[in-house]
Amino acid sequence: MKTLYKAKWILPGNGVVLENHALLVENGVILDVISPGGLNINDCEVVDFGNAVITSGFINLHTHLQYTNIREKKFKNIVNKLKRLVLYFKKFLIGVKPKSFVSWILDLMIEYICLTDREKQESFEQGLKQALLSGTTCIAQLSSEEMYFETLNNSPVKSYIFFEVFAASEETSDKYFELFRQKYERLKQKCSKSTFLGISPHSVYNVHSKLWEKISEYSRKNNVLIHTHFAESREEIQWIKTGVSEVNKIHEFAGVDQLKPTKTKLNPVSYLKNLNLPYKNLILAHINQLEPKDYPELAGLGTAVAHCPRSNMILHNRTLDVKAAIKAFQHRIGIGTDSLCSNYDLNILNEARFVSDAGVEPLTVLDMLTINPAKILRLDHIIGSIEKDKQADFLVFNLQENETCTDFINKQKPDSVYISGTCAGL
Ligand SMILES: [Zn+2]
Repeated sequence: MKTLYKAKWILPGNGVVLENHALLVENGVILDVISPGGLNINDCEVVDFGNAVITSGFINLHTHLQYTNIREKKFKNIVNKLKRLVLYFKKFLIGVKPKSFVSWILDLMIEYICLTDREKQESFEQGLKQALLSGTTCIAQLSSEEMYFETLNNSPVKSYIFFEVFAASEETSDKYFELFRQKYERLKQKCSKSTFLGISPHSVYNVHSKLWEKISEYSRKNNVLIHTHFAESREEIQWIKTGVSEVNKIHEFAGVDQLKPTKTKLNPVSYLKNLNLPYKNLILAHINQLEPKDYPELAGLGTAVAHCPRSNMILHNRTLDVKAAIKAFQHRIGIGTDSLCSNYDLNILNEARFVSDAGVEPLTVLDMLTINPAKILRLDHIIGSIEKDKQADFLVFNLQENETCTDFINKQKPDSVYISGTCAGL
């Protein structure tokens, strides 16, 4: 059965505004976008949203949903409670600067390690629910563990799972790459039509150059997307420049060799270029420590950016110059919430409003939530805009009489979320 979804406004993407059009959907796919003259269609159910705006479903380009419940600290397991005390004591002995980025990372590591598998799973599912509530119909999820794969693979929410890897030496680079490769190739056989896999070397300061080499080779050969944190903290920039900074305390805490930069005295972009990566397969989260003058050189490499504005402000009090970044990266920039450990919530609309408050037009922000990340994740043949033959992933925002189509950005959440033509129960 075909269904015709009518609304006063449709924002299909790429800056287009359609008035009094409708979507014709069958079997979860958009059959057509119908103009006002062609709305008399027989044999179809009609859903009229009236004074409302329809947008494509949102894509969260950078998050770690497994950390959602960490701040609640509901530890029930007594062994893990003791483990937690021991780990905090170890952190104290190492002498990490209080309230620093490294202190935040170590707290996150400790709290997460001390969750039981069941608590981790609950935390993840809670995050997925919160993301969906704000209209997120596709997520780029970063975690090292395999345990969330089944949840995402069975969820209507589309997902790009980037498996996180770390290595501090040549030996562990071989070992951890091999573990990743086996996991990736095994799970790839099990992926549904809406689950996709990539790799996430955590950062330049937590990944040995040998592992970067192996990832690059594999990515080039198999066209695998790479997602990494880059130029996020002052400590990272200092490490790139001198090889010595507070990030060495992370290595000390983890009990691994102190990672050294492959070359010192380089600025972050030159350092990244020196790694000789397949840049067109690379997504960089954050880059908030770079100067706008660095953006064109980085964009020229073909890299994409996951902009996480509120997380950047909360942790580093510094976010990127979003207008300059849009100018440099054009369609190669999307928006992410990062995890709830560095944000107030997982609501991508709140993130979007932050970008719009920085002076970016709402229709450009909409592209950063939809078609841009779809292109970055190479999923724009199925999602990212309201177009014929794409999946019917769309959001409906009811409008007040005095509101217009771009007021979707001022809403707390959509009134309805459709994924593959089915209304998600919110
Ligand atoms: Zn992150």
